[in-house]
Amino acid sequence: MQSLTISKEQYQSMVAYVNFHAPLESCGLLAGRDAKVEKIFFVQNQAHSAVRYVMNPIEQLNAFEWIDSNGMNLLGIFHSHPSGPETVSPTDIAQAAYAVTYIILARVDGRWRARGFWIEDGGFREVTLQVL
Ligand SMILES: [Zn+2]
Repeated sequence: MQSLTISKEQYQSMVAYVNFHAPLESCGLLAGRDAKVEKIFFVQNQAHSAVRYVMNPIEQLNAFEWIDSNGMNLLGIFHSHPSGPETVSPTDIAQAAYAVTYIILARVDGRWRARGFWIEDGGFREVTLQVL
């Protein structure tokens, strides 16, 4: 995937969510069709940690079922880095289990910034986030 399209409202709702939960990390799922996000799921970080996240498995399963039954695909997984960095961490790379865009929302100098990454074979490359 080279790019992922997300609406301005969706983008702002993600930022509001991760900002609300900071300084703890928070996370969620993005679903849609043809690299265009249509639905965001906010999933509880049951690790309650400032440095890692573990998605609540029940909420994750429910989201996957909803995505399936609505004919969509899982397009992305987002989580926050309230204290940076702006890129995926070694842990993020090691734990990447899905062929989707991983979105990192990082707070740098008090402002949230989102970047997308494709993680594969122990490495990553940037995926353009188009906010429309
Ligand atoms: Zn991370």
